Amino acid sequence: MPDVFRLLLIADIHSATRDAPEANRRCRLGRELFRRALDDARLRGGFDAVALLGDLLDDGTRDDADELLAGLRAELDAAAPDAPLLVAPGNHDGDPERLLRALGARAGLHELADRDGAAYRFVVFADPYVEAKYCTRPGEALAWTQTLRDGGAPLVAVQHNPLSPLIEADYPYMHVNRDEILLGYKRAGVNLSISGHYHAGQALNRVGGVQYFTAPALCEPPFRYAMLFLRGREVSAEVRPLVAPAAADIWDCHAHTEFAYCAKDVTADAVIERARAFGLAGVCLVEHAPQLYCAREKFWDGRHVVEPALWRQGADARMPRFREAIPPKRGEFVRVGLEVELDADGALTLRDEDRDWPHPLVGAIHWLPEDPSGMTESQFAECFLRTNEKLLANGIDVLAHPFRVFAWQKRQAPADLYVPVAEMLAAYGCAAEINFHCNQPEEEFFAVCLERGVKISFGSDAHELREAASFGPHLDLLHRIAPGRDVADLLYHP
Ligand SMILES: [Zn+2]
Ligand SMILES: [Zn+2]
Ligand SMILES: [Zn+2]
Repeated sequence: MPDVFRLLLIADIHSATRDAPEANRRCRLGRELFRRALDDARLRGGFDAVALLGDLLDDGTRDDADELLAGLRAELDAAAPDAPLLVAPGNHDGDPERLLRALGARAGLHELADRDGAAYRFVVFADPYVEAKYCTRPGEALAWTQTLRDGGAPLVAVQHNPLSPLIEADYPYMHVNRDEILLGYKRAGVNLSISGHYHAGQALNRVGGVQYFTAPALCEPPFRYAMLFLRGREVSAEVRPLVAPAAADIWDCHAHTEFAYCAKDVTADAVIERARAFGLAGVCLVEHAPQLYCAREKFWDGRHVVEPALWRQGADARMPRFREAIPPKRGEFVRVGLEVELDADGALTLRDEDRDWPHPLVGAIHWLPEDPSGMTESQFAECFLRTNEKLLANGIDVLAHPFRVFAWQKRQAPADLYVPVAEMLAAYGCAAEINFHCNQPEEEFFAVCLERGVKISFGSDAHELREAASFGPHLDLLHRIAPGRDVADLLYHP
């Protein structure tokens, strides 16, 4: 079976330093939405190229345009540095040359290949606008399209304005010379034409042997992007909203706050806001308990685990400040818990005065309570199981990133631990967390958990705001291991 070319489509980001509420656009969130879409797509099978379908900016004539474009470019560098980039300028982008330069892209013909070497030709148009609104395909571009005929590899046309089906509206969504373009595509043997601009999007459709697709706008809820799968001349499309489906009743059961030493830009308030914006049923603010008891440097080398006095008696505890600031945010939508560990004495890293109030208690193994350096694989595995058992016996609600300590110790998590860990979780009534933060969840393990009736918890483990409430990969995983099952039934609810 031939491989598939996976094309990520992002349209109408409308990035700006102020929102456009009258148009329902979350412009200020533009850069973050862009990064969320890139990360979501990367963790859900990845992509072979990125097509940005115009209106990256809400107003490209403003002074902040360069800075906003640099921000978008920075997200590409971070999340998709090697992906070929196709950019069709839109009517809101201002100078099309400036846009292309800022992103390191160009209009015209691009030849790209899938992982098996099957080639595709992408032809990107930068159509001019009058009054930033009326769009025309110039005669020379129409003529040039005809020279691409009989070129072998399937031809994909890329532009900002939608071409099919016809949109009848007062606003000029479509090219002034749309009919000419459609006819030209048919004659040139264009296989597929992709667009943005029409924020509702248009499903894959076929006219005169040409397939057309319009990607919905990223900037408006439910914040959608699209994947196109090309297999020769065969095309299929998948539209993916970043907002979670309400019926799944998803809680983010593990999000950090400004109190984490490892926090990048998360704050409790912003995490709550994102949980609402991305359609969650609620969010648990869960902070590292040992980080609230001891100083930064004592946490980072895991000394608090082997020297319990550090977290028990540390005079530099920030817990009182945390308790003053965060638990008052509790309500229907917000829970406040702690991420706890097991120390070398076999105790939870939780002082007596903090036993009653946190919920949920998320248990994690970041360091084993014994020195792992000389351990054989089987000694490490045994120590891991013992630590898990004690952690669970102490009454945690969720087991965070269950096997991550193996990867962090540059070891492989043995698959024969899946059953014993799942059985422990079932026996103690503890949920297993799917967590993609610096972590690759073991799919098979979660399947074993479901067989034993263990609840699944979704944890963004957000240390950066863009991670909060981002559960596309988690949902995909659950759908793969439990096809047809009701997600809400499988999930842990705090
Ligand atoms: Zn537009
Ligand atoms: Zn953790
Ligand atoms: Zn965490």
